[in-house]
Amino acid sequence: MIEPVVIIGGGVAGAAAAIHLARADVPVVLLERTVGAHVKVCGEFLSNVSLRELAALGIDVARLGAVPVNEVRIDGRNPGRSIKLPFPAASLTRERLDQALLSVAEAAGVEVRRGMPARGIAPTGHSWSVETSRGLLRASEVVVATGKVDLRGMPRHARRLQPLVGLKRYGAAQDGKRVTLALFPHGYCGLQPVEDGRTNVCLVVTADRLKALGGRPEKVFDEIVRRSPHLEPSLGTASDPVVAVGRVPYGFVRRSTNGAYFVGDQAAVIPSYCGEGIGIALSSGRSVAAAIAEGVSAQAFQADFARRVGPRVRNATFVSRALCTRAGRGAAQLVAGAMPMVVRKMAVATRTPSEPAYNSGN
Ligand SMILES: Cc1cc2nc3c(=O)[nH]c(=O)nc-3n(C[C@H](O)[C@H](O)[C@H](O)COP(=O)(O)OP(=O)(O)OC[C@H]3O[C@@H](n4cnc5c(N)ncnc54)[C@H](O)[C@@H]3O)c2cc1C
Repeated sequence: MIEPVVIIGGGVAGAAAAIHLARADVPVVLLERTVGAHVKVCGEFLSNVSLRELAALGIDVARLGAVPVNEVRIDGRNPGRSIKLPFPAASLTRERLDQALLSVAEAAGVEVRRGMPARGIAPTGHSWSVETSRGLLRASEVVVATGKVDLRGMPRHARRLQPLVGLKRYGAAQDGKRVTLALFPHGYCGLQPVEDGRTNVCLVVTADRLKALGGRPEKVFDEIVRRSPHLEPSLGTASDPVVAVGRVPYGFVRRSTNGAYFVGDQAAVIPSYCGEGIGIALSSGRSVAAAIAEGVSAQAFQADFARRVGPRVRNATFVSRALCTRAGRGAAQLVAGAMPMVVRKMAVATRTPSEPAYNSGN
């Protein structure tokens, strides 16, 4: 019997890898720990890279209700200058997007097993044993696509990275098809319209600041209102549910592996203000499928993917750290007001390169 490739995690990276592999006639089992669509801490901005990768997977985002986004604004105490985005973009809730991707995966022949978390993996000769909540599975290869959650014994080493917490809630509709980056002490927040007339409000704040606010997420939203009162109508209220994720390792890039293939946030984590995490995840899913189909080793894949996205992640993380400081906030608003071309250039410079860098067998 041919052992399948087992993909652990059914977010954007895992689903993309599964669809590309299935289309290359590789048998795939995808394990997703949740039983149904759910809210994720994500700004839900789809860059041109994300849109291109989704189109290649057969996902029609417009049919799913995606809202086109064509401007960016950097706000402080007052609204900033509106700057036209240098590429097409949109926004769509992850509940809809992730569900659509898993449906396409199933239609492509992937065996999707929901409500079935993987607990660990172990090499067994030339294949793998995957421990799941319902027993052991054999796999020819394992793709780890668990996003923000590390698989047992495989932590993303984030010692030198800035400890940040991600928070998200939905607020009332804002005017315009715009993504707004609101800068506030010790963090930054993105606002943009999503389907159904709501505004996605998603932010990161330093873990120290959240602790100083008594660990209460609503206090962080209150700080944004105090700093940028004009945004209050779209920021949601204390009664709106908040989802959170701790220890977001912006700047992480995996360069080596134990033999499994790592994709999405398990491969590299770019700061959220870039709106490119989904682009990296989808692109890593496509690359890993090509690597497995061509017999490229996990180590070669990982090293090449790191070379491809590493410099972008590093530069973006440098800016992210600056945005959490007073001086950085001031500089960002000054640049956005006086030199919108710089913002447009940065937007382009943080996109995922379109082609895998590796071209060898192993
Ligand atoms: C605050 C914030 C805002 C962001 N905003 C944006 C944005 O606007 N645009 C953008 O492009 N990117 C954004 N990102 C980044 C983006 O959300 C991620 O890069 C992207 O979701 C990574 O996709 P993934 O498939 O690797 O992980 P995920 O989407 O997190 O999917 C991982 C999946 O694995 C499952 N899983 C976990 N553990 C197991 C297990 N043991 N067994 C089985 N299944 C498991 C989870 O349930 C989940 O469904 C943002 C990130 C943050 C923190």
